[in-house]
Amino acid sequence: SPARPSNFLRQAIERDLAAGTYAQRRWGGGAGDAAFHAQGELDPAAVRLRFPPEPNGYLHIGHAKSICLNFGLARDYGGLCHMRFDDTNPEKEDDEYVRAILRDVRWLGFDWASSASRGGENLYFASDYFDLMHRAAVHLIRLGLAYVDEQSADDMRRQRGDFATPGTDSPFRGRSVDENLARFAAMKAGGLPDGAAVLRAKIDMASPNMNLRDPAIYRIRHTAHHRTGDAWCIYPMYTFAHPIEDALERISHSICTLEFEDQRPFYDWLLEQLSRPVEGQALLAAPLPRQYEFARLNLTHVVTSKRKLLQMVQQGVVSGWDDPRLPTIAGLRRRGYTAASLQLMAERTGASKANAWNDYSVLDIALRDDLDAKADRAVAILQPLELVLDNWADVFGSDSHREPCAAPLHPHHPERGQRPFTLGPRVWIELDDFAAVPSKGFFRLFPPHTDAAGQAKPGSKVRLKYGYVIECTGFEAGADGQPVRVHAHVVPDTKSGTPGADSVKVKGVVTWLGQHEAVAAEVRLFDHLFLEEQPSLDGDDWMQHVNPQSLQRVQAFVSPDLVAAPPLAHWQFERHGYFVSDERDHSAATPVFNRVTALKEAKGK
Ligand code: ATP
Ligand code: MG
Ligand code: MG
Repeated sequence: SPARPSNFLRQAIERDLAAGTYAQRRWGGGAGDAAFHAQGELDPAAVRLRFPPEPNGYLHIGHAKSICLNFGLARDYGGLCHMRFDDTNPEKEDDEYVRAILRDVRWLGFDWASSASRGGENLYFASDYFDLMHRAAVHLIRLGLAYVDEQSADDMRRQRGDFATPGTDSPFRGRSVDENLARFAAMKAGGLPDGAAVLRAKIDMASPNMNLRDPAIYRIRHTAHHRTGDAWCIYPMYTFAHPIEDALERISHSICTLEFEDQRPFYDWLLEQLSRPVEGQALLAAPLPRQYEFARLNLTHVVTSKRKLLQMVQQGVVSGWDDPRLPTIAGLRRRGYTAASLQLMAERTGASKANAWNDYSVLDIALRDDLDAKADRAVAILQPLELVLDNWADVFGSDSHREPCAAPLHPHHPERGQRPFTLGPRVWIELDDFAAVPSKGFFRLFPPHTDAAGQAKPGSKVRLKYGYVIECTGFEAGADGQPVRVHAHVVPDTKSGTPGADSVKVKGVVTWLGQHEAVAAEVRLFDHLFLEEQPSLDGDDWMQHVNPQSLQRVQAFVSPDLVAAPPLAHWQFERHGYFVSDERDHSAATPVFNRVTALKEAKGK
């Protein structure tokens, strides 16, 4: 594998590959296996992972980490990663989410469709296994390891006990196999209302692991499912469904987040029982998948809970799932983060066994590292101030004269060529490139003035970048005293790239756009949606913590070559940072650009 830092997951995979743990694997070892795998030829020896989201919302930055981890390990070890929807919870799931998730995973750069010799698509839905899951439940009943409990949810909760107290057996725990089969069939037939009964695994009501105190494995929900419609009114619990999905797909390494560590004993227990024969037939065959847990990604200043993201979308705190301030993959893409930058973030934050927080800046640093070499340079003026070159006609003969200029598309890659533009007598500069009275160390535009010591000082000379040296001669102020127009003279024969360019030394360089060619554009600037590093989300009022200044729209000017670009094109706007044309709103008629991130971290952050 490439030179990537090792971690406990890589070590587990390398150990299994060296020991040949999965080399002896054959398809069709169990009855469930055979039924499922009738559909394709699969290479039994390959390392096999999966990314298993529930289609109940859009994916977020935490999922991006899990996608990069699972698909990345499969890639590095010549294996496969399945794309699987864990759709066992019909109330909250939707096809819209399925489509959005597939799009996001593909955009991140991963592909579940492999060559036909390796089994084709590798796109799976847990709901496709409802028959097999039902058979697995019946299998457990036949083994005497599951029973239908018809108590109230409250009674069952009371009987569970706690860490210090063993649980109490349900009065239904001693039912016979035949009675359980009959009652489970009644649940499935639809005669019982939601909540009237659950099927529970029969394990150990005194176990110190609460998850082994006869957990529920099937419940009644008279709810249509986004794929199976009304075919079922009983649905498997996630903890029961997930190990079966892994086993049926012959997953070798089932990677999840640390919260599931306490579920691992049930995962192993269940698969072992389903490998035991009933009347000579087992559902699954060894080697079975194994679960590994890693620490979830926690990023400062963002919320990574689908439930909370959904609330913000529903209450209109943001414009939708792809609002550029959200840490959803759709939002990050629209904001301008690249797939490569998210992959870098995932790699740099590593896979560990200890929960920790990562600073949000890890994302911005990755973005800059990705785009510094890739993004063309361009100019935008975000706070425009008019500059008039009053001697233009004297120097060039007419106010309608245009001086051709050129800048490299990328300063370190001259082979990429140049962008041409022209200078005229009226240009836009940035408001903060001018000071009526300069403070110490200010080297950009200032007019003739009297300094603090009463000395008369000349106006500054600066270079209009890739253009001429100019000398500031004065300015006009509005009623509020703020500058509205700056006046200057062109210094002849000082054009960049000509022999006279260095004849006048200047300390300041100013970016600019000719008014005759600048195009008005909306530029969106963002701040964190939550100013707190670890947003306090416990109370009902957590949405009060949303930063009201997280979106700022400014009327800016950009160079004309930018507006014809398609959505999601990236640039570095000189001095301002990395920008992207908005995925949804940008067009040549209404240009809209988002700032992904500034060129450097703001001080004090
Ligand atoms: P949420 O809590 O936001 O609803 P989830 O874990 O319930 O997230 P799933 O759709 O079940 O969402 O997640 C799919 C996969 O993504 C799981 O394997 C899960 O472990 C992983 N995942 C989710 N959040 C993170 C995170 N913050 N860091 C790393 N992996 C994550
Ligand atoms: Mg989950
Ligand atoms: Mg969830």
